[in-house]
This record gives sequence, C-alpha cells and structure tokens, in this order.
Amino acid sequence: MRISFCPCHRAQFATPASSSASHGPVSGGAIDPSLKLDIAIGSRICATEDVFDAYGHLSVRHPHAPDRFLMTRSMPPALATSDDVVELDLESNGCAGNTKPLFLERFIHGEIYKTRPDVNAIVHSHSLSVVPFTVVEQPMQAMFHTAAHVAAGAPVFDIEDEFGETDMLISDRMKGASLARTLGDKSICLMRGHGSVAVGPSLQHAVMRAVYTEVNAKLQLNAKLLGGRMKPLSAREGELADAVNLLGVGRPWELWKTQTLRAMRAEGVLT
Ligand SMILES: [Zn+2]
Repeated sequence: MRISFCPCHRAQFATPASSSASHGPVSGGAIDPSLKLDIAIGSRICATEDVFDAYGHLSVRHPHAPDRFLMTRSMPPALATSDDVVELDLESNGCAGNTKPLFLERFIHGEIYKTRPDVNAIVHSHSLSVVPFTVVEQPMQAMFHTAAHVAAGAPVFDIEDEFGETDMLISDRMKGASLARTLGDKSICLMRGHGSVAVGPSLQHAVMRAVYTEVNAKLQLNAKLLGGRMKPLSAREGELADAVNLLGVGRPWELWKTQTLRAMRAEGVLT
C-alpha cells in the first residue's frame, strides 16, 4: 500500500511500514528499555537545541545486532517517547512485523551504517544555520573547540550530481548510498538545499556533534560579519580537541538529559 501525498508536503510524512504485508526481517533481539528512552530523549534534545523542528530524526545501531538499528516511528521528534521506537534492518525495512509508519529518509541511516562500522548513531537534520553553507561555496570551518569535529572537513552532498533534479530527499537506498560515499570517513556531511548529517560512536556523541554543528554555523556567519582574516581550528587542533570532546560528552549529555526528563515528567509522558 502507498499513500498519495500532496507533493509540497510529502517530506513531512512517512512511507507506510514496508513490512506491513509480511513479518519482514527478524529482530536483532530485545534491548534495554533505557536505550529506548535515550532515543526519545535524544530526539527531544535536538528539538530543544535548534537542530530539529517538525523534521529530523536520529538513530542508534542495535547494541547486540550490528545489522539492525533503532529510531522512532515517523513523527515530530519533540514528541518522542520510548513507545515510539522501532527497529529496522540495514535495508531500512521495519523488523518483526512492524506496522508503524517509517521515516521517508530512513535510508540515510541504513546506508551509513553499512559503510561505517565505527558509527553507532546518526542525526539527520535541517537545522537552519547550516543550510546556507550547503548552497554557497563557503566551506564550513571549525570556529571553536566544541565543534572540533568540523575541522576534519564538512563535505557537501549535492544530490543533483548523481540523480539530476529531484525533490532533494534521500528517499531510497541508492540516494542513501551516494550520501554515505560523500560522508566518507568524516563526522558530518552537509546536504545541498536540505540539511546535514552528523555521526558518532554513540548516541551522545552524535547528538553533541549535531548540536555544535548548528552552533558552529551561527558562529561562522557571525565571524564573517566581522570582516577580518579568519583563523579557524587547523585539522590537527581539531583532532586534538575532538579527542577531548569524545571523553567529555557526559557533561552536556547530563545537562540536556536532566532538562529533558524534567520536561517529560511535567508533560506527563514519564513518571
Ligand atoms: Zn531531510
């Protein structure tokens, strides 16, 4: 079954679960409920920190089955709860007879997990300050140490290069694979006229990189306004500072998670 969408709103919605006609791929096994909660919390953090709006999604590789990953059903990320988490295989099919609607752009996640065994979490967003860097020939550079991952490079994926004029969305495996090739071994990839992808070795790292990619974009735009010679972090400085960030991710995560748990309790979706 396929649902017809108004073209201008199609990106907001999901394709129906591809496994609805059968049981689909088997599950990689039960996961700790705390991971499902962290996926919901991560989604809400990205919304609070100006990374997500009504759009955007994140995923985590299944902790016991590297050929499976977890993300929420297609929904506004700021409303996510543990009950919304679904499991997919690396072909981006829903597992174990899933009937919940899946994100149209879930192929971003499946195809990156195929090519990057070091990646255990992915954030895809349309965060606003990043978008100008996807359409202007002005490379994003690392403005400060908490965005050190940017110093290794922020390649821009132009969907038109391989697929001609499209609706700009990563709506199938071929487009996802092309995006994964442009990402290469980097931590972020910008997407022309669309947004970006941030990856990391854990959910906490991917969220931190997504948040500070958006902050870095704002800082670079402001720095440009000053008009002087710009001296961003070098590749080596970025490498050194990113190592510190990888070790220190617990601090921002503790802050953001605590704030999010308070909000979820106030909302009544968590006791
Ligand atoms: Zn998108």
